[in-house]
Amino acid sequence: MRIAFIGLGNMGSGMAANQAKAGREIVAFDLSSEALARAQEQGMTPAVSAREAVNDADVVITMLPAGDHVRSVYAEAILPHAPKDALLIDCSTIDVDSARTVARDASMQGFRTAAAPASGGTAAAAAGALTFMVGCREQDFAEIESALKPMAKAVIRAGDSGAGQAAKICNNMLLGISMVGVSEAFALAEGLGLDAQKFYDIASQASGQCWSLTSYCPWPGPVPAAPSNRDYEGGFAAAMMLKDLKLAQEAADISGAPTPLGGAAEALYSEMVERGFGQKDFSFILQMLRGRP
Ligand code: NAD
Repeated sequence: MRIAFIGLGNMGSGMAANQAKAGREIVAFDLSSEALARAQEQGMTPAVSAREAVNDADVVITMLPAGDHVRSVYAEAILPHAPKDALLIDCSTIDVDSARTVARDASMQGFRTAAAPASGGTAAAAAGALTFMVGCREQDFAEIESALKPMAKAVIRAGDSGAGQAAKICNNMLLGISMVGVSEAFALAEGLGLDAQKFYDIASQASGQCWSLTSYCPWPGPVPAAPSNRDYEGGFAAAMMLKDLKLAQEAADISGAPTPLGGAAEALYSEMVERGFGQKDFSFILQMLRGRP
């Protein structure tokens, strides 16, 4: 299987490496020359443009920052230059409208497409243990599942076009809220004189347990793989979390769903980005709450 992989950032680099490890032929492209050099070291073929990457692809996978990037790469490179029988899978987290527009344009030109946003963070991307939420036609799902398999713990079809993004937006609103909650709990524990590790040992075995605590702990120490142990670098940027929380609030406005805590999380991440910490991992919200940046 020949895969064009576009977007080799914090997530895409690990994802593409797992495809290469599974023996698939990867032609990779990113705007960053360092990312391309890393891909070459891992056995992938670097392309000089997205257009060149997709030329002979059986599958095109994109892992780009936001809807604008996906729309432009699709319009300028993928739709005009990929073979018409290529399977197009966008794994980026983007707004439902961009996902539906890209899928509509692609299917009008005869392509099979899927939006398959991923959950799990950079550690799961590197370990090939992401959860993919797929919006696609039912008859295309088996092929999409097999294409995503080397990067996945689970591949779940959420429904038709747009459903994968809808599931991802709801999931990440929950993640943003839970990270703020865990951070507030650590800040309060500190204020009450509790040892942070002791609090972790107790909460991780009690009803406060959640992914933000036990897989991605914002307090440095208890979870060695978490970005809090590397000065909050190289994880899921706060600016990206803010993007997702804004997408959730827009979707809530349109659908009339009540999301008061989603709104509060959006306000806190807006403040973090305005204060210049948009490129820090989103778990850095703990340090902002503690007044420590
Ligand atoms: P990132 O900024 O680290 O990587 C994005 C990459 O895309 C960069 O290397 C950039 O150079 C490249 N890029 C941008 N425009 C391009 C273009 N026109 N052509 C080729 N390459 C281009 O971002 P990330 O953390 O890897 O996130 C990517 C997507 O995955 C986002 O939509 C994000 O919301 C989602 N996501 C991230 C995480 C996480 O923990 N980081 C988890 C799940 C989902």
